[in-house]
Amino acid sequence: MSASLDDMYRDIILDHYRAPRGREPLPMADFSTGGHNPACGDQLELAVKIDDDIVKDIYVDCKGCAISTASSSMLAEILKGKTVAEAKKIATIVRAMLKGDEDVKIPEDLGDIDALEGVKKFPVRIKCALLAWVTFMEGLENYQNSTKNPDSPTTLE
Ligand code: ZN
Repeated sequence: MSASLDDMYRDIILDHYRAPRGREPLPMADFSTGGHNPACGDQLELAVKIDDDIVKDIYVDCKGCAISTASSSMLAEILKGKTVAEAKKIATIVRAMLKGDEDVKIPEDLGDIDALEGVKKFPVRIKCALLAWVTFMEGLENYQNSTKNPDSPTTLE
C-alpha cells in the first residue's frame, strides 16, 4: 500500500471522527443496545428505527478512539435507508473484511468503508473498527428473534 493511500484513509477516518454521523437521538427506536471493546475501552450506544423493513434511522454514540468512532459513524451513514436484509449483508461483509477474509470484496457503492481496510495492518485496532458492526448485527438478531433480551449489550471477546 502506498503512503498516499494511507494518507487518504487517515483523512477519511479523521473526517468521521471529527464530525461523526448519527448523533441525533432516536427516542422511538425499535431496538437499542450497547457495545464494549475492553481491549481499547471503546464504549458504544446504538439505537435503530426500522419501518417497513427499512433501516429508517440510526443513532450511534461512540466514546472511544478515532477508529471506533469513525467506524460507527460510517455504519450510521451507510446503513441508513437500506433494507434490513441489505444492512445485514453489508455488516456481514464489513465484519468478514475486518476479520481478514481475503475473499471478501467491498462493493463499490459503500463509500468510505474501504478506508477501514487500512486498519487491518494494525491488529490491535481491528476490534475498534469491528465494534459498531458486531453490535449492530447482534442487536438486530436479538430484535428479530425477540425471545432474547433485545437490550443485552455486546462485548467483544
Ligand atoms: Zn479503540
